[in-house]
Amino acid sequence: MCGIVGIYNHAEAANLAYLGLYALQHRGQESAGIVSSDGKTLHSHRQMGHVADIFSEPVLAGLPGKNAIGHVRYSTTGESVSKNCQPITVDYSRGGLAVAHNGNFVNAQKIRAELEAHGAIFQSTMDTESLIHLVAQSSKNSLVDRIIDALKQIRGAYSLLFLTETRMIAVRDPFGWRPLVLGRKGDSWVVASETCALDLLEAEFVREIDPGEVVVIDQHGIHCQKPFAIPHKKAMCIFEFIYFARPDSHIFGRDVYEMRKGFGQQLAREHPVSADVVIPIPDSGMQAALGYAEESGIPFQFGLIRNHYVGRTFIEPKESIRHFGVKIKLNPVREVLKGKRVIVVDDSIVRGTTSRKIVKMIRDAGAKEVHVRISSPPTIGPCHYGIDTPDKDDLIAANKSVLEIQKFIGADSLGYLSTKGLYWFEKNPGEWFCDACFTGNYPVPMEDISDKMKLSSRRAQC
Ligand code: AMP
Repeated sequence: MCGIVGIYNHAEAANLAYLGLYALQHRGQESAGIVSSDGKTLHSHRQMGHVADIFSEPVLAGLPGKNAIGHVRYSTTGESVSKNCQPITVDYSRGGLAVAHNGNFVNAQKIRAELEAHGAIFQSTMDTESLIHLVAQSSKNSLVDRIIDALKQIRGAYSLLFLTETRMIAVRDPFGWRPLVLGRKGDSWVVASETCALDLLEAEFVREIDPGEVVVIDQHGIHCQKPFAIPHKKAMCIFEFIYFARPDSHIFGRDVYEMRKGFGQQLAREHPVSADVVIPIPDSGMQAALGYAEESGIPFQFGLIRNHYVGRTFIEPKESIRHFGVKIKLNPVREVLKGKRVIVVDDSIVRGTTSRKIVKMIRDAGAKEVHVRISSPPTIGPCHYGIDTPDKDDLIAANKSVLEIQKFIGADSLGYLSTKGLYWFEKNPGEWFCDACFTGNYPVPMEDISDKMKLSSRRAQC
């Protein structure tokens, strides 16, 4: 889970990258960074924290040049510490190179062990750093061939942006797990994780970068190639539609808003219940609740109000803080809930902590009945491809039946969207999604231990 943005050929490249990151802040709130190029040198600023807090005017003034790439991080490999901020920048035999990565490699541990056995020294515990080593060690001549050579050794999910003194290179893995879009702003090119970044930059959406495509942007223009073997099935992450992408974005050829509303409508068809009001858990359940209300004919209301100055509670690593977080973030509207039979809609249940707290909160506010509806199937497995889903042991649906979960969260009824209903829309020919967290069908097997800290814990064992 991360967001990336790149600007090529704009007098205010770093400022635009900053704005782009601002629009992509929902994809990662741990750290942010921008690397710019003035044609001769790369300039970098990376820091822990939120985009708006990091990039003051003096910081942006220290990022000159017409090209820039940026990154917001939500870690899926490596700790949340400053040494793991991106973009990673190095000087290697051919000059400067910076890289920003969204995704997760499934053979990172093996690659790193091989590199270390040959004397490589690492500065971070991120899978992305291995990629840089592979690029530097490649026997190919041109940088683009080196990048392709390196990526052919890597398996897993990646949407990538590279920046050199003179070029910007965008790559999306052959399965297309994570989104990556191409935009145009006058004579400048923009690449971003989602179209909401293009909108803020007033860049026109050109197209999505295809799975397995390498796009090189330099002074001569844009050059595209597809050097990787394309798998039989693609694996675009369905969870981007359910939760992760912003609802105002257009990714994987579809509007996220419409997709989310459709999940809610389908949920209403699959799990109807008599009730007085449909309320969303803001913001994650918003569009699905609208869809549910529209389909069921039950009025939509805001029964919970969100404090917008609190980050995503999920990010808090400690159970105690996460519990507290729900209360800080949400407060019930008693007039909407008192004496009512309430349907509350959210996108997913992970550990069950949030739902349990919220059901209690709604009951305490006077609701007569609380019916929980979830606009995705039970989350039964961790994600190996860049969503920070916990281990199986911590996933409530991997360990309890729906009825047991209903009891645990204290709801009068609980209904999840079915795995069939997830595909309420008509899929285009050749359109495939990764739904491994719901089905257990992993398109590419995990080759490492399934642990976010795998590259650090392995060292500790040595
Ligand atoms: P939990 O309390 O663990 O069941 O968390 C459920 C809440 O976390 C839901 O409201 C989701 O919107 C949200 N959520 C689901 N997956 C993720 C994720 N990978 N990262 C952050 N939040 C998530």
